[in-house]
Amino acid sequence: MSLFAVSPNVEIEQMDTDPFADVERVLDRAAALAATYLKTLPDRPVAQPVTPAEMIAALAEPLPERGADPAGLVDEWFARAERGIVATSGPRFLGWMIGGSTPAALAGDWLTAALDQNTGGWSASPAGVQTETVVVDWLKELFGIPSSWAGVLTNGATMSNLVGLAAGRQWVAAQLGFDAARDGLGGRPAIPVVSSTEIHASTIKSLGTLGIGRDSVQLVPAHEGRIDLAALAHTLDTIDGPVIVVANAGDVNTGAFDDIEAMAAICRRHPGAAWLHVDGAFGLFAAVSPRSQHLIRGIEQADSVGSDAHKWLNVPYDSGFAFVRDHHALESAFTVTAAYIHADDADHWNPVLQSRSPELSRKARGLPIWCALKSLGRTGVQDLVERCLGYAQEIGEWIDAHPTLELSAPVHLNIACFRYRPHGLDESQSDAFNSAAAAALQADGRVFVTGTEWQGRQTIRIAFDNWATRPRDLRILEEAILDIGQKLLDDPRFSE
Ligand SMILES: *Cc1c(COP(=O)(O)O)cnc(C)c1O
Repeated sequence: MSLFAVSPNVEIEQMDTDPFADVERVLDRAAALAATYLKTLPDRPVAQPVTPAEMIAALAEPLPERGADPAGLVDEWFARAERGIVATSGPRFLGWMIGGSTPAALAGDWLTAALDQNTGGWSASPAGVQTETVVVDWLKELFGIPSSWAGVLTNGATMSNLVGLAAGRQWVAAQLGFDAARDGLGGRPAIPVVSSTEIHASTIKSLGTLGIGRDSVQLVPAHEGRIDLAALAHTLDTIDGPVIVVANAGDVNTGAFDDIEAMAAICRRHPGAAWLHVDGAFGLFAAVSPRSQHLIRGIEQADSVGSDAHKWLNVPYDSGFAFVRDHHALESAFTVTAAYIHADDADHWNPVLQSRSPELSRKARGLPIWCALKSLGRTGVQDLVERCLGYAQEIGEWIDAHPTLELSAPVHLNIACFRYRPHGLDESQSDAFNSAAAAALQADGRVFVTGTEWQGRQTIRIAFDNWATRPRDLRILEEAILDIGQKLLDDPRFSE
């Protein structure tokens, strides 16, 4: 009798075939489809008009009863879903802050999926965990973060900010005499948080997730996107004990930076002590160029920093990283204990013993970043960042020089914010014109930019962080901006 009895329902022959015999046939189809998509990406419409009803109909299907040939599935899905695929990784997607993926990072991501390593603990993948340690060290060096800080890879800046704030929560609670992660927050003094009105929505979300509370953050005014330092100092004066302060580097609307160095000094003077967290989702990349380094001055005086790899580093979704000065505050926030988790006294980081994020099982996010940083090198990252700075500067100057357009804010980094200035419209008509223009530019498909509200007015944002954007894309952008402006002027809504 065999030790492993095969169920009588399973045909022995079928079990005996090589389970991976088909792998090339299946994967080659995906690789071919991906290559065709990426090669045509620069010339695809960025977004295509599709109604929710059309998208729902395209994918509607009951749970399949029987299996299908795996090789054709990606092609079938692509054909059905195509109209709803937005070319966010392409060179003229300039909305929000998205970023594409370089072929090197993409190859790393594919292999990550193929190897399917779980980097939740050292024993499950020494290679995956050590790769994460190496890339975290590289990233610290790249951005001027002290090498002694702890770091961890996350699924994006929301989670990176959550990681930094969780460590801050742990530190504040310790000052107040309790362990927030162990004891919970119930019945304890509130944990005060101060930031500016430009705080990112995801950080507010993280404060909610952490039990600190979305509404608990005190918002200090900002001028042109930068926190009012006197108002910050004044607010801290009204708080007796320890406090978390969040700096925005840069703000998502205009790319403006808080003065981190001055904020760190104000934090140091606070008698109750303060934890300074910096949201550097894309702004941390200012550190890699002498042209923008001054914006992030003082970063090494912060206590924690959150950032993204899937934006400006052009690594595929989802990928981010966080750095925290105080290892104990970080690791006590995410302690995991279970009977099957055993300590070893090793001289390497083991995520299961020194947990630094909310995840347990996690993919080997280090590999795509490893490939990205190996393929670019420090000079390649600097070059990528500087190209984007140059594009934002250039389009800003073009807008400034154009009689029917105006810059809504100075170009601080990689974002240009502008408004159309149609003649003869009052403020509210002009706001309606600008939000209609943002929508029309998206529907047009040549470029993708996003509308926002800045200082009470409807504004259009152009954000550069894609490695593949070229000067010709700027010409197409300029053309589209002028065409859409002209079309709207002829629209009965805006012409008398
Ligand atoms: C994008 C962004 C975030 C959130 O990052 P995700 O990667 O979307 O989770 C937070 N802060 C700023 C300033 C951002 O630009």
